[in-house]
Amino acid sequence: MKNKYLVLMTVIIAAVAIGFIVVANNMSSGGDIAKTFDAPPSIEGQPVLGDSEAPVTVVEFADYKCPSCKAWDQSIFPLLKEEYIDTGKVKFIHINTPFHGEESVLASLASEAVWQQNQDAFWPYHKEIYRNQPQTQQHDQPWVTEDALLQMAASLEVGIDVDQLQEDMTNATYKEQVAIDQAVLEQFNVTKTPTIMVNEHQLNNPFEYEHLVKLIEMEE
Ligand code: CA
Repeated sequence: MKNKYLVLMTVIIAAVAIGFIVVANNMSSGGDIAKTFDAPPSIEGQPVLGDSEAPVTVVEFADYKCPSCKAWDQSIFPLLKEEYIDTGKVKFIHINTPFHGEESVLASLASEAVWQQNQDAFWPYHKEIYRNQPQTQQHDQPWVTEDALLQMAASLEVGIDVDQLQEDMTNATYKEQVAIDQAVLEQFNVTKTPTIMVNEHQLNNPFEYEHLVKLIEMEE
């Protein structure tokens, strides 16, 4: 009888303890984490903005042809940059996620080429491609062409060698870089853009800035 009582008490205590752990986990993530992986994505060779020694890494999986990516770049990214990247708390990484066919791939090849020739020019160019994405419903219409990407590069005073860029697009010089990005996004089950990761955590809704902040603060 005494043994039965002991077993029962142990089961109850274990159940309560597990309940506490579940509640504590939910409180710490608040449902803002879609998935936590064993390790963060490899960022070797990827375009990085901010202090490379920053304690937290935020990775965006994004597509220049994707309207939500442009919206994220214009609404959430400036907040993140001012509060966390410029202050050295976060380094920010872009990984090409070409979900919209050949144009997405071409824009990816162009941005990889610019990163290779002049790292300081990458982020202004990145922003300029988004800026050129049509605001209307026309974003599915073709607008990413070699000529357009060269014009965007030429319009910026950040030191992009336009002839080199043209050659790199024509020869798909950095297709290996785009293939690496493809492998990373498959490894992290990225199915929608933008997808945002904070270290090894994938954010549920990238447009909830407060969720992003909470995750960064948790990882800091
Ligand atoms: Ca890349």
